[in-house]
Amino acid sequence: MSRDRLHRLTAAERERYAASHPASRALFDQASHLIGRVPMTWMSKWSGGFPLYLDTAVAATVTDVDGHRYADFALGDTGAMAGHSAPPVTAAINRRAIERGGLTAMLPTEDAEWVAAELARRFGLPLWSFSLSATDANRWAIRVARLVTGRSKILVFSYCYHGSVDETFVILDDDGAARSRPGNVGPALDPTSTTRVAHFNDLESVRAELEHGDVAVIVTEPALTNIGIVLPEPGFLDGLRRLADQHGTLLLIDETHTLSAGPGGMTATERLRPDIVVLGKSIGGGVACGAYGLTEAVAARLGEHTRAGAADIEDVGGVGGTLAGNALSTAAMRATLSEVLTEQAFDTMSGLAARYTAGVQATIDRHGLPWSVSRLGARAEYRFASPAPRTGNDSAAAADPDLDEYLHLYLANRGVLLTPFHNVALMCPATEAADVDLHTGLFADAVADLLGR
Ligand code: PMP
Repeated sequence: MSRDRLHRLTAAERERYAASHPASRALFDQASHLIGRVPMTWMSKWSGGFPLYLDTAVAATVTDVDGHRYADFALGDTGAMAGHSAPPVTAAINRRAIERGGLTAMLPTEDAEWVAAELARRFGLPLWSFSLSATDANRWAIRVARLVTGRSKILVFSYCYHGSVDETFVILDDDGAARSRPGNVGPALDPTSTTRVAHFNDLESVRAELEHGDVAVIVTEPALTNIGIVLPEPGFLDGLRRLADQHGTLLLIDETHTLSAGPGGMTATERLRPDIVVLGKSIGGGVACGAYGLTEAVAARLGEHTRAGAADIEDVGGVGGTLAGNALSTAAMRATLSEVLTEQAFDTMSGLAARYTAGVQATIDRHGLPWSVSRLGARAEYRFASPAPRTGNDSAAAADPDLDEYLHLYLANRGVLLTPFHNVALMCPATEAADVDLHTGLFADAVADLLGR
């Protein structure tokens, strides 16, 4: 592939993007009181120099303020995996907010127990607590793990992402040494003092770190999804469970993204036996939410410490958020889990993601490209490496931001949105085969243009 040609084509796509989105551009230019001109700094990640401004979003479609419609495969980076404003969710919000009243009141509603029971049924862990983000669920669960094991460290995989959790911003460098992830913003201390790091799909590297005997909990996604998709090799997840047991370490499975695998995430599809499960984003249908679940054994140990006065889980001990578990959030989770992200919906979504993956693979094969596409239920992603990367470091090395920008802009200019982080595409229950086929055709055209064929 000619880099000159890539840059020429990208410049043309940028011009087209700027010319066809004057209203978004004007709003961006006027935003002088926002850091980076955006409500959240990661919104600067969108290609094209400025983000599209949202006008409306319904089902699997968003419309920007210039009146362009998009098949949305970004879906709020999984926050909208239930689809935009799914009717059961908006009805529940309406019932809670308007008919009954009470968005947050320090008081439980009956929805919370329903949601916890449903999560117990799906994931097999009996006891749950709520947060307003997956980040907070991870933070609080890590505190619980340190408390009940009496150990200070956690183990994560190089190039993991679990939200803005201080202890997780650690990678292994080219020499295999742990170090703070490049760009880590203002760490309180060197995160290698709180965290051990291993390579995903490398049980020996996990064993070596656990042998120090100071790791409270392994924190991992069952497949890495934040550095492209890195699927676990056969035996890897079972091996993690075995090593954790051998070393008195707990296993926290962060299913925030991998819920795409099915109603009970990969915990169910892979028959995992985690001590802790973390969820967030999608289970509120777009309303802020998060949750962590504990086994009976971990909950019992937490109870002992609490009763002994060693852990204040009711007030200022570090595991609480004022609006966590609020009436609106739990009503939205109940509606999402009972009526939207159902077993049947996951079947449809996975089928569409398979169709998407086959479409991408056909283009890769037609041109003999050294690329790969991986799928995790309803989620699919292409990576500029073949075979697909097997560790976070391999996947990081396959990044090609210039190619990402070209493809993202090519697609956006023709009515398809991908997540601005690498090349994730996600299906929701309202995604249609025609949306997928639109992507397939455009992806083929973009690649053909790039190769001059
Ligand atoms: N865990 C995983 C696996 C994630 O991918 C993310 C966000 N991308 C988080 C946790 C944090 O989610 P949030 O930003 O909603 O707190």
